[in-house]
Order: sequence, then structure tokens, then C-alpha cells
Amino acid sequence: MSPSLATVSYIGATILFILSLGGLSNPETSRRGNLYGIIGMTIAVLATVLGPRVGAAGYAWIIGAMLVGGSIGLYAARTVQMTQMPELVALMHSLVGLAACLVGFASYVDTSTVFQTAAEKSIHELEIYVGIYIGVVTFSGSIIAFGKLSGKIGGKPMLLPARHWINLIGALVVIYYGYAFLQAHTMADGLLPLAVMTTIGFLFGIHMVMAIGGADMPVVVSMLNSYSGWAAAATGFMLSNDLLIVVGALVGSSGAILSYIMCRAMNRNFISVIAGGFGTEGGTPAAKGPGGEGAQPAGEVVAVSAAETAELLREAKNVIIVPGYGMAVAQAQHTVYEITGFLREKGVNVRFGIHPVAGRMPGHMNVLLAEAKVPYDIVLEMDEINDDFPTTDVAMVIGANDIVNPAAQDDPTSPIAGMPVLEVWKAKTSIVMKRSMASGYAGVDNPLFYKENNRMLFGDAKKMLDEVLVALKA
Ligand code: NDP
Repeated sequence: MSPSLATVSYIGATILFILSLGGLSNPETSRRGNLYGIIGMTIAVLATVLGPRVGAAGYAWIIGAMLVGGSIGLYAARTVQMTQMPELVALMHSLVGLAACLVGFASYVDTSTVFQTAAEKSIHELEIYVGIYIGVVTFSGSIIAFGKLSGKIGGKPMLLPARHWINLIGALVVIYYGYAFLQAHTMADGLLPLAVMTTIGFLFGIHMVMAIGGADMPVVVSMLNSYSGWAAAATGFMLSNDLLIVVGALVGSSGAILSYIMCRAMNRNFISVIAGGFGTEGGTPAAKGPGGEGAQPAGEVVAVSAAETAELLREAKNVIIVPGYGMAVAQAQHTVYEITGFLREKGVNVRFGIHPVAGRMPGHMNVLLAEAKVPYDIVLEMDEINDDFPTTDVAMVIGANDIVNPAAQDDPTSPIAGMPVLEVWKAKTSIVMKRSMASGYAGVDNPLFYKENNRMLFGDAKKMLDEVLVALKA
């Protein structure tokens, strides 16, 4: 492929990526957005592989790597459960970070590049130093995020004493070695500063994510998304690949915007979340499920059956459904759709209230409801629906917990204090559907369960909703 054709293809791919991001911002256009992204990526890969910078000798390596990587990707995408998507995304971010590191080291030891001026060489070395740093922080931070999201590492924040000082000293050492790296005369001299910085970056990534409390994880997820974009952009600089720079910057900046939106939704200050310390102390520890430690009931709860739930729904005029992570676990969205359709046919006004951090990834609930074909116009954001609970007969909470926890408003010592929540307890009756009294992701007790107008429908959400549907139709 001629250089000019490769450039035109890159421009085409860039436009498709921008259209893709635009499409993904709305559920109705998201499929088209996805398609643009797939076409853009296919063009980008073809233009790179067939482009002027890859010689015929490289094809065997590239095709081999594509076959191995493509097979692993295909297998993972086909087998991963919807609820494991956030972990998969975190793992993918870690791979982008690792790639940036490897490319950085490879470009440093590659002696084939000829620099016209000393300034050009210094700029390239700076790109390498910064690129490896962003890459390694993304890599180790994403691995810890993967551990936390998959439950392999506890959600509780790990706070080292004098952690801010540790971070500051680490940053100063990285800057000092950066200077030493740029001053190095031989490759061997440069490798030591590079290795020290990589080690510090690796430890910093671990420390940063370990220090973040359970309920603040959404911000970390979107922040690492942003970092992976900047890591890709840094790789683009190191390889002088314009497309990678543009795409990396697109991902980096959209991730940064998402982090900002998440912080606003959680009523958190971005810097404070990153510095760690939120979600650390106070709050009533949660009662655990069967077999869990600390099963201390904090009050009386009123349990109802599926038939009683159906009765409450049948008598209601206004119903708000609040889905959470448990709905995703149970894959109950299709039954939710059927119940919604049945009630709407009977003239009940059914709507959905979506909390911005419901589930385990941004937009998690919207994706599930769209998959089940729930009409978009009855799916409302938290801010749009929160004032309507006092005039609602039944608020039905399906596998959600933290996002409907009144302690966020009432208990200033709670780890989730200040986080806006869906005020389901203001409805005439709220029904919480979950399997036990276990806590949600943030690990705190939920006073909603003990309120006088609250009912608990214990069991797997899909199984219980199936029973509710049968009872409704009976
Ligand atoms: P929660 O994690 O607070 O609660 C989910 C509840 O679902 C649990 O209490 C669990 O109770 C119940 N559940 C689990 N499986 C089932 C099942 N099969 N059937 C019925 N119920 C089930 O989820 P929310 O959606 O309310 O809140 C999201 C939390 O996750 C927030 O703390 C948020 O900060 C955090 N988070 C969000 C991310 C995002 O980007 N959106 C990323 C990372 C974390 P039981 O075991 O008793 O059934």
C-alpha cells in the first residue's frame, strides 16, 4: 500500500471512530456506532499491516500474533458472562498499558532509528519515558481493578500510613530519574533510570487502586479507561503513528469526561477519590448472607411472597422499577420486560429509575434493558425520576442495594455519605428483591430494608420474577 493511501485510510478510520463515539452516546444509535467502530478498526489494522512501514519479512510475525490474539479475544468475548464484562474491560485496559511499556522498551533498545538532531533524540526519549510510565501505571492499576471487580481482592480500601508522602516521594524520584535518563550517554546508562521508574510506576498503580473504597470504584474504572487511552496515545508518539495518537487521545479524553460525570453523579471530588480515603471509615457494617461473618440483623424486616408482590403491583397505578447489579447476575431483564408489558397493558404507569453507578460498569443497566427491548422512553435517569417517588404506589428494587441506601443521606459517617441515591422509601410501598440480607458492593448495611413501608422478596431475581409473572397472569 502506498504511503498516501495509508494516510487516507487513517483519516477515514479516524472519522469512523469519531462517528462511533457519537453513536454510542445514545441507545438508539449505539448499534450503528458499534458498526462504525468495527469498520474503522478493520481499516486501521489493514492500513497498518499493509502500510509502508511493514516489510514482507514481518508478515509471518504479524499474522501469527493476530491469529493467537484474535482467537483469545474471540473465545473471551463468546464465553464471558454479561456480569463479567467489567472485569474483562479492566483486563483489556491492562493489556493496553503493557503494550505501551513493551513498545517503550523496544523503541529504546532499537538502534535502527536515526535522529537528525539532538533535540529530536531527546523528544523521542521523553516520549519513551512518559509512555512507559503511563503504561505501567495503567497495567498494574488495571490488574488490581480486575481483582477488585471480580471479587478476587477485597473491596475495602488499603490505606498505607503517610500514603500521600509515599506518592509524593515516588513522583519526585520519577522526575529525578527522568532527568538522569535524558542525560544518559549510552543505552546501558539509560536502562537503570528506566527500570527504576517502571518499578515505581508499577507500585504506584497498585497503591492508587488499592487505596480506593468500594463505592468509588466506578470512578476508578472510568479513570483507568482514560489512562489506557493516554497509554495508546503515548505508544502512537513512540511509533510515530498518527492514528494511534488520535484514537488514544479520543479514548483518553472521553474517559476523562466519563470520570468527571461519574464523580459528579457520586457527589465526589475527583482529586479526593484518586488520593484515596473515601469509603474508608464509619458506617454500619453490613449483615452478611448465609455463611458470611457478622450476621447481625439491624432490625426487623417484613418478607413477602411472589403472590403478595403480584397483588401489590396489580393494585398500583404508578410503579417505578429500580434495577441493580443483582438483576444482571440473575439475567432477569427479559422477565422484567414481560412484567412491564403486562402491567402497562392493564393501564399501570410503569417506569424505570436508573442510577448512574448501578451495576458494575457505566451504562450497565441501560444495556441490559435495551437488550430486553424495554422502550427507552420509560427508562429515566435518577435526576429525572427521584421527585416522583412520593406519588408512586410501588417502587420495585430488583437486585439493587447501595444505590437505594438512605444512609447516604442520613448517616454522615457512612462510606457512601453524600452519594445521591434513588429515594425508593418515599413510595407508598417499596419491595426489595434479593436473595439474602447481604450487603452490596460498598459493604454497608441498608436501613431501607427495615423501614415500615418496605417489603423484602427473598430469592433469585429471575426465579422470583417468573413467579410474580405467573401470579399476575393467574
Ligand atoms: P449492589 O452491589 O449494591 O447490590 C446488588 C445486590 O444484588 C446485592 O446486595 C445482592 O444481594 C443482590 N443480588 C446478587 N445476585 C442476585 C440475584 N441472583 N438475584 C437477586 N439479587 C441478587 O448493586 P447496585 O447496583 O445497587 O450498586 C452498584 C454498586 O457497585 C455501587 O456501590 C457502585 O459504586 C459499585 N460499582 C459500580 C460500578 C459502575 O461502573 N457502575 C463499577 C464498580 C463498582 P444478595 O446477595 O442478598 O442477593
